[in-house]
Amino acid sequence: MTNLARLVRDIAAEMAGLADRGEVATYIPPLAAVDPRHFGLCVVTVEGAIHLAGDALEPFSIQSISKVFALTQALGKVGEALWSRVGREPSGSAFNSIVQLEREQGIPRNPFINAGALVVADVNLAGHEPRMAIGDLLRFIRYLAEDDGIAIDEMVARAEQATGFRNIALANYMKSFGNIEHAPERTLGVYFHQCAIAMNCRQLAMAGRFLMHGGLHSPGGARVVPARRARRINALMLTCGHYDASGDFAFRVGLPGKSGVGGGILAIAPGKASIAVWSPGLNANGNSQLGTLALERLADATGWSVFGVG
Ligand code: GLN
Repeated sequence: MTNLARLVRDIAAEMAGLADRGEVATYIPPLAAVDPRHFGLCVVTVEGAIHLAGDALEPFSIQSISKVFALTQALGKVGEALWSRVGREPSGSAFNSIVQLEREQGIPRNPFINAGALVVADVNLAGHEPRMAIGDLLRFIRYLAEDDGIAIDEMVARAEQATGFRNIALANYMKSFGNIEHAPERTLGVYFHQCAIAMNCRQLAMAGRFLMHGGLHSPGGARVVPARRARRINALMLTCGHYDASGDFAFRVGLPGKSGVGGGILAIAPGKASIAVWSPGLNANGNSQLGTLALERLADATGWSVFGVG
């Protein structure tokens, strides 16, 4: 067994024994029903080795991790023009905050807070029916993960639609500033369905490979995005991927990462590994409590932090 295989196994074993696992999200009812004892970890290395531990093959709701793939899709459609509608600065606010939008005239701070992701969904909807836009995103993710089994959990999508009053408010508010082009319910439909995509850690780590390989699908494989775009998406994940805890995540883990309220985190060690972790219990900022701890252990032991070893 390699050192990395042993490390992945040991981290999962440590996490399994911890009692303080955070709180599962309750504002989306199906997420409230998920057992907080789950823990999964998958590390895909630059050489293509795949290390799995715990519940790495159990699907979960990727939620806001979908924002990484939706952003990649939107940049492919409109390129740099995206940045006239959404910023690139950390918000310092919660993922579903509305306060900055008034001061900043309906331009969200970044593509990873909900407001920004709604603008991205609106961009991806242009020229399409909502069903086509979400189908394109799903096909893109399946291609990246090399797995056609990835699907949308319709029950989660419906629950979000029924309870997403804040997101509905955000979309309508931005519409009033002219920063949502479509009928808000159509843009929201795309957003709710992308959040309801279910994946396991293995599928997610595989889908993240293009961000460790400088934009290539896999080593020597097709180009998914220009190298510069991959670098910039990583930069946004590092600075904005954990909302108002992005600074703390950089401090503790030091890797570009994107969290979701389903308890998943996709983390990228550029040139080294694509990592997915899942533990449904969240900390006060809405990020996976044990997922963050597991990544901290992994980064400490491997020296993968983008800020250097030690
Ligand atoms: N679907 C969730 C929401 O819009 C996504 C939030 C998240 O994962 N942080 O509230």
